[in-house]
Amino acid sequence: MLRVKFAIFIRYSKIKPNSEVNMKKESSHTKNDLMEKITSLCKRRGFVFPSSEIYGGVGGFWDFGPNGVLLKNNIKQLWWERFVQIRDDITGIEGSIIMNPEVWKASGHIESFTDPLVECKNCHSRYRADHMLDGRFVGEGKATKKNQCPTCGETVFTEPRNFNMMFKTHIGPVEDSSSETYLRPETAQSMFTDFKQVAEISRKKIPFGIAQIGKAFRNEITFGNFFFRSREFEQMEIEYFVKPGTDEKWFGYWLKEWKKFIIDLGINKNKLREYEHPKKSLSHYSKRTVDIEYDFPFGWSELTGTANRTDYDLKQHEKFSGKDLTYFEEEGMKRYHPYVIEPTMGVDRMMLAAIVDAYDENESGEVFLRLDPKIAPIKVAVFPLVNKEKLPAIAKDIYNELKQYWFVQYDDGGSVGRRYRRQDEIGTPFCVTVDFESQKKNTVTVRRRDTMKQERVKIKDLACYFMDKI
Ligand code: ATP
Repeated sequence: MLRVKFAIFIRYSKIKPNSEVNMKKESSHTKNDLMEKITSLCKRRGFVFPSSEIYGGVGGFWDFGPNGVLLKNNIKQLWWERFVQIRDDITGIEGSIIMNPEVWKASGHIESFTDPLVECKNCHSRYRADHMLDGRFVGEGKATKKNQCPTCGETVFTEPRNFNMMFKTHIGPVEDSSSETYLRPETAQSMFTDFKQVAEISRKKIPFGIAQIGKAFRNEITFGNFFFRSREFEQMEIEYFVKPGTDEKWFGYWLKEWKKFIIDLGINKNKLREYEHPKKSLSHYSKRTVDIEYDFPFGWSELTGTANRTDYDLKQHEKFSGKDLTYFEEEGMKRYHPYVIEPTMGVDRMMLAAIVDAYDENESGEVFLRLDPKIAPIKVAVFPLVNKEKLPAIAKDIYNELKQYWFVQYDDGGSVGRRYRRQDEIGTPFCVTVDFESQKKNTVTVRRRDTMKQERVKIKDLACYFMDKI
């Protein structure tokens, strides 16, 4: 919800001085080419493509294909294991997407979850004012300079006005203001409204956290950079409740944990940096916010945020709901509103960063997606060298065994070289080839994506071999 910093007036001085708002400036031609190549690979290999494409798509919405959904699920699963499963101080929930509309009054979203919108006075196209001012559209359509409409080239716009980014909908059959509500723009709020119940049910003592992975919806005025900024996306968020006075310590802790997680996904740590939000542009609830940015081909852009939300949300919900949301600390016999540290990250942005980071080409222009084996959609591909003798049957047996543990592919189409290329493009770290020797010696060749090294492994040892490496 950091965009509320634009809520009141739009000034050059208020625009985030680096990162995503400067994307176009930082882009070089080659970097744009890279984004085009990645977009094409993602479509060709079933990672991501436009939603309802047969109807021309719908701006800012994406479908994740067979490989995309696996990659995404792997990221989410690793996150859930690390921050919920193996920790005693965090418990998970799944809140509903549509909540009581009072929630959004209390949280401040109805009043301030806005982006500044300008309209071209000539062609009536609409853009985000800060994006227009920072030169984001230069080079697009008819825009050759800052503050020029990409659609018609005119430079006269209406005054910026605040546009609320929540998607409105109605509950029940009558579409009037009494039935109006919104699709949630962040997962956080159910973790505040459920705070007391979850604390009691799970018998957690402060400090403790509630975690959630789920969809969020924002009617972004300017979407783009492939699926970096979408209108429907997923978040992985934790609301970590702490004793006031310990909040700064926990903030530092979560910032480090977040960074470690990103690096453990295999993302190059030299392409990460922190962005400390200046005090004057912090969201209304935040005492401190630090983003982790990734050096995307279109410039440094936000991957994650960590915010010290203080006791703002719990107090607001207490005020609006009339329900006590304090915590009773038995040791000190004290009742207080906990402070909340919120580390949050977008699943889709993490996935895009993983793909960008892993993209590689050799001198012949062959593409490799050097994804960490932990997140690679397909862990092992199994090929019979040729469809002769017992080779396909042996390969099928291996495939049937390995797929008990991982997503594995069987491929007997075309030359082995072509089959390797297909797997390299989707990031499969290991390929197993069954050849004539396999029939006699019960061994196969395992070829590694990154080193291209091949080694002979006994068929009976394959599962353990991959267990060790994945
Ligand atoms: P931005 O400044 O890029 O608009 P934000 O600061 O508003 O993002 P938060 O409200 O902090 O974002 O949301 C938490 C996380 O959700 C972000 O760090 C990002 O990874 C992800 N996210 C936010 N908006 C989008 C979007 N439109 N599309 C994809 N992911 C998003």
